[in-house]
Amino acid sequence: MAQKGVQIITVEPGSLAEEAGIRPGDTLLEIHGEAVLDQLNYQFLITREDQAELALQRPDGSTFETFVENGGEGIGVDLAQDEVKVCKQNCVFCFVHQMPKGFRKSLYLKDEDIRLSFLYGHFTTLSSSDDAELDRIVRERLSPIHVSVHATEPEARIRVVGNPREGDILRKLDHLLAGGIDVHTQAVVAPGLNDGAIWQRTLEDLWARRREGRGSVLSLSCVPVGLTAHRENLPDVQDVDPAFARAWVARWAPEVRRYAKANNGEPWLLLADEWFTRAGIEVPGRSFYSRSWAQLENGVGLVRRFLEHSRRFIRSPRARGFAGRRVLLLTGASFAPTLSRVVAELNRAVGSHLRVIAAANFSFGETVTVAGLLCGEDLKYAAHADRDAKGGRPDWVDAVVVPSSSLRTHTGPTDQYTLRGFVVREEGTFLDDLTLPQLAADLGVPTVPSGANLSHLLDHLEAADRDAFRGGALQSAFHTAGLNLPQGAYNP
Ligand code: SF4
Repeated sequence: MAQKGVQIITVEPGSLAEEAGIRPGDTLLEIHGEAVLDQLNYQFLITREDQAELALQRPDGSTFETFVENGGEGIGVDLAQDEVKVCKQNCVFCFVHQMPKGFRKSLYLKDEDIRLSFLYGHFTTLSSSDDAELDRIVRERLSPIHVSVHATEPEARIRVVGNPREGDILRKLDHLLAGGIDVHTQAVVAPGLNDGAIWQRTLEDLWARRREGRGSVLSLSCVPVGLTAHRENLPDVQDVDPAFARAWVARWAPEVRRYAKANNGEPWLLLADEWFTRAGIEVPGRSFYSRSWAQLENGVGLVRRFLEHSRRFIRSPRARGFAGRRVLLLTGASFAPTLSRVVAELNRAVGSHLRVIAAANFSFGETVTVAGLLCGEDLKYAAHADRDAKGGRPDWVDAVVVPSSSLRTHTGPTDQYTLRGFVVREEGTFLDDLTLPQLAADLGVPTVPSGANLSHLLDHLEAADRDAFRGGALQSAFHTAGLNLPQGAYNP
């Protein structure tokens, strides 16, 4: 029993664990003679058979073994939170390296964790995964997994991930595919770094690994590189400007349909929304995106899904809940044109007075235009400027709406994991630690998160009417951007 195991925090009264003499504070070392690595591994081991032989350690260091007839179910224990695995790579466009100084410490910790990749769709370069970890993915069937390939040409990949040992991503991918693991892949594209022939080869190599049945590359998305104004002492990386984005869309959007045709009609090559927003081109129709909205978390199809939902919502009787409301919606520059069009349609249909403002991102630099990276101070500044422009009246609007995505930390999704003792998710807090209640108190009007669509937004405005968002304080769970829901968790 050499492994350190996972500590048991609570034991449910009347549970199998209690009957077996297991107590809070014990450490679960082994199940069926296999070391317990973490919560996900526990779920895998405990549900594998109808009975389980357990090896445990008391806080005083003594060990004991016990046996439970659990019928393939959990035994009624809560285990200690797992620590997220911290990335030791050096990607040239790593967002964490481009963070301005002064944010809370947890935002500078980089995660590269196959468990988060499986559970929440986080992308991993697999650079921190050795063969033993790849075997674990196969053994526990952590499928699908999400892999940042960036480039399959070895020298290009080394340049991108900044690690001379990580050129051969295809070896690792093939290890997983041969084990029956499905993989969603992505390439973050930077001009002159991994576009052109390198991108073409990446596309061909990954397409060659798409197959019917298990062990397939399920999709490949391309995402334009995101650079902030904080790149001091970092390698030169060229940004994707509107001309490059337009050329990319012109070249690759038709290929999306060609690959979909060869993939039984299901889109396989995916273009992130940002190509279109940066190019100033309307996003394509529904058939451009996969039926299951694959890689939605990665910014593929978010705009189209919002438009589809809005169109249906505006025609529904519920839309009249917006009638007469004077609401200011704050968002990022890239989403503002789309949101403005939808809001104009809603205003015409139901007589509401919603307005959209694109808040500039002074925290990360104005080149950063996505809503999710707006900080509390950026939103406050935009709302103040709007109020001043309207004569400074304290009741200049009935409510202010902030993007739900700005209320998530960009590093993580879950209260199940910690980053070296920091809880990853802090709900209701912007990246710069301003909280929603603080912003609401400053603005003096109800301030609510947007939710993922107009229906969620109306829920929030109605909750504010009922004072459920008293002083902006969250009295109940609110709709997040609809993201980061566990995707592949075993039944807990
Ligand atoms: S793998 Fe991710 S977290 Fe690690 S350096 Fe690269 S971009 Fe940053």
